[in-house]
Amino acid sequence: MISDSTQKPLACWPGTELYDGEVIPCLTVIFHTTGCTWNRCRMCGYKFERTRITDRGEKICALLSQLAWLVAHHPLESFRMVKIFTSGSFFDEDEVPHEAREAIAEAFQGKIVVAESRTEFIHPDIITPFKEQIDDAAGTSALYVAMGLETTNDFIREKCIDKGHTFADFIEAVKNARQAGAGVKTYLMLKPLFLTEREALADMKRSIAEAGPYSDIISMNLCTVQRRTEVERYWKQGAYRPPYLWSAVDILLSADYFVQSDPVGGGKIRGPHNCGACDREFVAAISEYSLSGNREILRNVMESSCACKKEWEHVLEHEEPWCMPLTR
Ligand code: SF4
Ligand SMILES: [Zn+2]
Repeated sequence: MISDSTQKPLACWPGTELYDGEVIPCLTVIFHTTGCTWNRCRMCGYKFERTRITDRGEKICALLSQLAWLVAHHPLESFRMVKIFTSGSFFDEDEVPHEAREAIAEAFQGKIVVAESRTEFIHPDIITPFKEQIDDAAGTSALYVAMGLETTNDFIREKCIDKGHTFADFIEAVKNARQAGAGVKTYLMLKPLFLTEREALADMKRSIAEAGPYSDIISMNLCTVQRRTEVERYWKQGAYRPPYLWSAVDILLSADYFVQSDPVGGGKIRGPHNCGACDREFVAAISEYSLSGNREILRNVMESSCACKKEWEHVLEHEEPWCMPLTR
């Protein structure tokens, strides 16, 4: 469900998540807000999904309407987890005034709530009240603050993504989240602009190892080419190729931590892809692994005999910054 209205969420959908060894029903919602205050990341298409509302009272009204719509269309008692996104940061007071956040907390009381935000908005005085509001007497609730760290390498984050925060900022935000009693979900990005496949693979492996100690949940996003982004401009010029699904599986298999990944756009030309013939099998394996943690599933596809494995290995070995991408 995609909506342009400010009276309905931008999108919401039911799904499942692996949590504490159990597959649980999960509702994902993207609230339609005034959007990201940073607004600069090179791969991000969400930054265009902003309402034109400037009045604080109207922002609250719009969010309350969206919440009412959500509650009316999705029986919340069916979901144990709710993942909250906005077109920016859920804990940005300017984007989501606390009156709206309080109503959302009340609606999701007792749930496992995962809410995404940039690092600069993770302060105990914002997180603590929200955490207390979702807590219920049964003790079934939990809060995870989700942050897009993308990579632990500050140079890559600045030059290839333009994210506007450092690894040290992230660590400070983790400290603040924990002080407020919240857990941390870390998003990492495989293959931002300007990296070869080999560099991207190495960057992700290092980032998982370095972000692991600060994270309760790690999720690897596989870069997709979103419309009207800088990534799209380079892609149209033939200067960018999304990552191979081979790389994604190789990373998940070798990580010391369990890493989730939702291969959005997998197998499509704008998304992470292999040769076309084996993509479906890889996408299914990554999705299944994210819900089971069973590495056997990954080993099976890694050992598959598709001829494009040779192509991927060739790219890993020979792609250089001055001759990339070697394939489309
Ligand atoms: S911080 Fe998030 S929402 Fe804002 S531009 Fe970057 S990726 Fe997009
Ligand atoms: Zn293939």
